[in-house]
Amino acid sequence: MHPRLVQARELQSWMVTHRRQLHAEPEVGLELPDTTAYVVQVLQECGYQPEVHPGAGVTAQIPGRDRSRTPTVLRADMDALPVDEQTGPRFAEFASQRQGAMHACGHDLHMAMLLGAARAYADQPPAGDVVLVFQPGEETDRGAVPTLARHQSLQLEAASAFALHVHATWPPHSISYTRGTFMGYGDWFRIDFRGPGGHASQPHLAGNPIEAGARFVLAARALVETLSASEHLVATVTESFMGNTVNVIPGEGRLRGTIRTLSAAQRAALINGLRDAAARAAKDTDTEASFELMEGYPAVVNDGSYVDQMLTTLTATELGTGLTEMTQPSMVIEDFAYFLQRWPGAMVYLGANIEGHTAFNHAGDAVFDESVLATGAALHLMAGDGF
Ligand SMILES: [Zn+2]
Ligand SMILES: [Zn+2]
Repeated sequence: MHPRLVQARELQSWMVTHRRQLHAEPEVGLELPDTTAYVVQVLQECGYQPEVHPGAGVTAQIPGRDRSRTPTVLRADMDALPVDEQTGPRFAEFASQRQGAMHACGHDLHMAMLLGAARAYADQPPAGDVVLVFQPGEETDRGAVPTLARHQSLQLEAASAFALHVHATWPPHSISYTRGTFMGYGDWFRIDFRGPGGHASQPHLAGNPIEAGARFVLAARALVETLSASEHLVATVTESFMGNTVNVIPGEGRLRGTIRTLSAAQRAALINGLRDAAARAAKDTDTEASFELMEGYPAVVNDGSYVDQMLTTLTATELGTGLTEMTQPSMVIEDFAYFLQRWPGAMVYLGANIEGHTAFNHAGDAVFDESVLATGAALHLMAGDGF
């Protein structure tokens, strides 16, 4: 067995303990005082001197056996979601003790895996220098940005970056990858339609934001159909506020929604198309439209030659049987994108399904197979060795 996998498996129950303690005390957002204190303490027990910045997470530098090699940045995210846990009696022993917060995206497993790697490296150092990164605020706070900016240990010219994400519905120990785009761009939009409004009995005199909104929804759908002929993309209207009674045409109305795209070109085409569709819908209904784009996360783009190197190494180990090439990128978004904008590297999905459970990440009843902790720790360890 690969020596890193041996090490990781020896730490399995140690990682389960830490995972469960982190799972029971989740924190949401950028400021995660208890989670940060926990991670810092474990790193110190492993013999490291972590660098800590409130709102920007924790890093630990580990000198490699050969300090001239390109360093590796290994990242785990730390934040939970504003969700009430509903995983039932089987998981009650370590269920969230905090109402309105749950590690429903599996970031508790990510932390436990990276702590496992930290402990294994304390016994057997990595081939080259490694920086462990525990990052807050992944879900909506763009925590990668302050983390990358504030840590002295991350001011590296050259490095590789690696992270994994557990997947609640894919087979346990499967390692799913892409060359190139792994996850797409995610953005939000908001359109405000304004018309004179007026008496419901005189629609011919009143610009009607509801008609404008209806036209926009249909036009957006047609646009997505046209553009997705060349590359998969999504535009979904998710919210509509218009009117408040039966006999008044409202003077204003608002739509909001999400777009997900896989390339910068498609993203620009979709945004321009939606802006045009809003303007046309307004013109045809004697209303005015303002279109606002709220930028989300950029795409997570894996480096092809890094992935090839990873595949060569993993195929020669017990982990090779889990390798699965994805047929298309995931439409989930992730701020690890900012790490891969700075350095080449990769993110992979690690399947963690428990048979009989179908809830995906973010659901209150999402559960993850803890036996994948050793697999995840081994992936980090091998990545830190430069694959
Ligand atoms: Zn998530
Ligand atoms: Zn996540």
